[in-house]
Amino acid sequence: MDYFCYQENRLHCEQVPLDKIAQVVGTPFYCYSAGTLERHFDVFREAFASVDHLICYSVKANSSLAILDILVRRGSGFDIVSGGELERARRIGCPGQRIVFSGVGKSASEIKNALEYGILMFNVESPGELMRINTLAGQMGKKAPIALRINPDVNPVTHPYISTGLKRNKFGIPHAQALDLYRQAAALEHVTPIGLDCHIGSQLTTLEPFVEALQRVKQLLATLRKEGIAIRYLDLGGGLGIPYEAQQTPPNPERYARALLAELDGLDVVLILEPGRVIVGNAGILVTRVEYVKTGEEKRFIITDAGMNDLIRPALYDAYHTVLPVMRRFDREEILADVVGPICETGDFFARDRMLPEFYPGELLAVRSTGAYGFSMSSNYNTRPRVAEVMVRQNRFAVVRPRETIQQLLEQETLFT
Ligand SMILES: *Cc1c(COP(=O)(O)O)cnc(C)c1O
Repeated sequence: MDYFCYQENRLHCEQVPLDKIAQVVGTPFYCYSAGTLERHFDVFREAFASVDHLICYSVKANSSLAILDILVRRGSGFDIVSGGELERARRIGCPGQRIVFSGVGKSASEIKNALEYGILMFNVESPGELMRINTLAGQMGKKAPIALRINPDVNPVTHPYISTGLKRNKFGIPHAQALDLYRQAAALEHVTPIGLDCHIGSQLTTLEPFVEALQRVKQLLATLRKEGIAIRYLDLGGGLGIPYEAQQTPPNPERYARALLAELDGLDVVLILEPGRVIVGNAGILVTRVEYVKTGEEKRFIITDAGMNDLIRPALYDAYHTVLPVMRRFDREEILADVVGPICETGDFFARDRMLPEFYPGELLAVRSTGAYGFSMSSNYNTRPRVAEVMVRQNRFAVVRPRETIQQLLEQETLFT
């Protein structure tokens, strides 16, 4: 459930009409609903209330400081994947003991900074990384808390680019090698294995893969404990899907929690969850203006001022996003159309072969469900400044990241002389 609704045929974010924001801020812009964000976080947290747990929101889904700030005030921790994300966590005062660090390519300086900050644990993805962490922690006179990220070889049945828990994916330690590596870790002087981690993919719409993965890592956990390796934290990653179309009904956080908790029954662990998309995906919307409408031989092209550099999901994952007029009119016929951006790429589209109400140049349209992997994946391709981000709470809105300027884009560059 989110707070983007029509009121008197004007699309609103909470109590604020989106056309009003467009007037003040210009287009395109991302607009986030603080109330939706908080609601999604609360629903997720309540689903796990019966067990000892820590929610580490996956920062890469949307790393805007305003969003991180709202979540950390709500008690969220963070799953980070880079030194830059660690710095964001630091800026908004997230305690180290609420941070886990994932990713296959952690650099030496990223590891040192995370050790300095005192994060809860590193989710280690290779033997090489384990050794590097041990060496660096030794140099700093510290002991690094770690989990191994296990690749359970489970098919998440999602887009191949966002599936991570299959043998052929680069992520994690193969299940068969995990026990051995845990034994090595336990023998190292400067790391302490305290956790077990797995994350099998993103935008999962069924529960079976989660349960299957959990069953595999549960066995490993039992074996580790028998060997005296004291695992306290069981990190089950993120990946719960969201509805991008009205008729999609992925499991809600309650069902997700029930399925996991049923498997955990009696297991004495602190559960860690790393939700990203399910918290922020439907808390954001991209508002863009129609520049031109071009009639092709087979369909209409609605050309907007936002492009694939602002929202790459359709190009990258063939993702579906609902497109809505900001001003709803009932005198418009539906036509077959593509909604496309101004960029010189055929992949530059937001909707393809879609029945949409007619649009005219100058009108506003909204691309729904773009709070996750929207702005955070945006780029300056085609030397396009990144768009503004706006936060709304009830009847109030504020720009939380101003639109970049072309001046800003160019000021760091120099000629080779
Ligand atoms: C991306 C990612 C997440 C979040 O995934 P969502 O599908 O957005 O919930 C969690 N954990 C890890 C390790 C990730 O890479």
